[in-house]
Amino acid sequence: MDNYDIVIVGTGPAGLGAAFELRKRLPEKRLLIIDKSEVSSGGLRNDCKMNFSWPIGFPENCWTRETAQHYLTRVEEFLKPTILERRNVSMYARRAEKLGVSLLEVRQAHLGTDGGLELIKRLMADLRAQGAEVSLGETMTQLNAEKKFITTDKREIGYGALIIAPGRGGFAFLQEMMNAANIPYRDNIVDIGVRVETKEERYPIVRDYYDPKFLFPKKTRTFCTNSRSAYVVQERYGDAQTGYWYSVNGHAWSASRPENGLVNFAMLKTVTLTAPLASGQAYATMLGKQAALLGGGRPIMQRVGDFRLGKRSFSESFTGDLYDFEPTLPSCTPGDIGLSAPAKILNALSNGLRLLDSIVPGLLHPSTILYYPEIKLYANHPVFLDNHFQAAKGLYLVGDGAGTSRGITAAWASGLRAADGIVSNL
Ligand SMILES: Cc1cc2nc3c(=O)[nH]c(=O)nc-3n(C[C@H](O)[C@H](O)[C@H](O)COP(=O)(O)OP(=O)(O)OC[C@H]3O[C@@H](n4cnc5c(N)ncnc54)[C@H](O)[C@@H]3O)c2cc1C
Repeated sequence: MDNYDIVIVGTGPAGLGAAFELRKRLPEKRLLIIDKSEVSSGGLRNDCKMNFSWPIGFPENCWTRETAQHYLTRVEEFLKPTILERRNVSMYARRAEKLGVSLLEVRQAHLGTDGGLELIKRLMADLRAQGAEVSLGETMTQLNAEKKFITTDKREIGYGALIIAPGRGGFAFLQEMMNAANIPYRDNIVDIGVRVETKEERYPIVRDYYDPKFLFPKKTRTFCTNSRSAYVVQERYGDAQTGYWYSVNGHAWSASRPENGLVNFAMLKTVTLTAPLASGQAYATMLGKQAALLGGGRPIMQRVGDFRLGKRSFSESFTGDLYDFEPTLPSCTPGDIGLSAPAKILNALSNGLRLLDSIVPGLLHPSTILYYPEIKLYANHPVFLDNHFQAAKGLYLVGDGAGTSRGITAAWASGLRAADGIVSNL
């Protein structure tokens, strides 16, 4: 068995945040960081817009404003982002306020997917140069928390301290590990919604505020806005045995790429399941599979013109004078979101979209496309032993997969907080 003082699973922002801090403060310790992918996945790689304001990305059950602020300052000192200018937002904020909607003021930086890849490469090289051992293409498969070793697809690795940061994609994997280590957790919260794609001229606020964060009634919000050179993408979940389903998402290239004149963002509703407590993951999977069933194995897309009339979109009806741009994820099936999304979710999303159209008039042009489903699985809530996300002796669970973050900067901050815990427990 190989042995290390500290093992980190996952090279997303949570794992990297922890790794750099631990190299700095415990340079004599042997540190290994592994990732099943060759390049770290997640938001550092996709669009890479970073939010440096509370409460964006910080689940309030884990973070107070003061704690988040303290860690955000440290994240910013390390990443040294170029903060984007926000202009002319007071007009939108005033309109929003009249409608009972909030427009959050968020300090943002944006690297784009290409810029994010450059950043990842640089960070991985720095980490190696600072003496960390990096093993890419190595997947953790099992955990023995009692004897303090993990099994990967290549070997067994003993650890003094272990940080598992597998991201949203590792949500189910983390549940398996928590079950194996008898760590209690809840996963009763999930975000479900649509991705909206339209021409930038119909959502011009993005020229002044890259990722405007609107909070609507009914726990509904805008999330992850992309523009300039923006595309909708799909992520696959599930497996060959239980069946695959898809969630849509969005990203954009950096300012150096040609613009395509389109913008996309998510409109999400947070669903909190109460007694009898069901799994948010199971609920989301069921909705995802239902959408895949109706979409012939694909996500569904519908033009707003059809959505408003309550009729499905067809591929042949997906062109015409009012339909003046093509979808950037054309592999989706033109269909009827109303047949797939539960009424309560659909009503909240429609309400949010109507309000947003009053704040930024033009958004609900008939050609605007709604893609469904967009599902965010980051609501594992492990029972932690301390304030540093320690879930069993020497075992720390952080990042989106462990429900301690919902974005790059908060994930990085979670990693820092776990690293602080490791240092103070030595
Ligand atoms: C398409 C997309 C776009 C996004 N855009 C943004 C954005 O612009 N801004 C923003 O703030 N957030 C964005 N996000 C969210 C952001 O990705 C996450 O909040 C953030 O990356 C979470 O960091 P993390 O370290 O917890 O997980 P991740 O970044 O997901 O990293 C987890 C890592 O763990 C590895 N891993 C998982 N399981 C195992 C295993 N068993 N063994 C070994 N390695 C494993 C994965 O390969 C992955 O590299 C986006 C997410 C997606 C999917």
